Amino acid sequence: MSLYHASRGFFRWVRAKVLRSEVRIAGHCLMCGRCCRDLRIMDHGEWVTSRRQHESMVRESPEYDRFEIIGKDDAGCLTYSCSCAGEDGLCTDYENRPSICSRYPSPTLYYRGVDPPGHCGYRYEALTFRTALRCLLGRERSFDMILRQERKRMSKQGKKA
Ligand code: SF4
Ligand code: SF4
Repeated sequence: MSLYHASRGFFRWVRAKVLRSEVRIAGHCLMCGRCCRDLRIMDHGEWVTSRRQHESMVRESPEYDRFEIIGKDDAGCLTYSCSCAGEDGLCTDYENRPSICSRYPSPTLYYRGVDPPGHCGYRYEALTFRTALRCLLGRERSFDMILRQERKRMSKQGKKA
């Protein structure tokens, strides 16, 4: 998305390889529908940034026709709203929704340096070097404990923000 996201994603990828610990997806969908009204799309591993790219994507995958371009973000990615998003926030074509919807939030996004927005009920959970070191020193006993600690730390950070 941006250089910041690219370097953040790269760091996450290296950390996961070094610690041999993949990201976990925690939480659940709160059915607010906000991700359907403000989304970016990745096509063949690249963010869609131009109308030409968008048209080629729709030619290849006609189900993407439901996504309407509403603008561009600061990083140059096209922003979309889905025409299938209902007034109540629910999907009106749930059975036929594209795979980007059923996989959201995917590990791929995490390794691209992107997080679900604060209002989303999902979050990524990953082992950090700090907690891995504590584990190594015998101050933590299990990955679940480590995750509990990470949650605590992240919620403290969230409160401060
Ligand atoms: S197809 Fe359904 S789940 Fe996917 S963005 Fe549109 S409304 Fe949301
Ligand atoms: S933003 Fe998150 S909580 Fe809201 S509908 Fe999308 S996945 Fe669900």
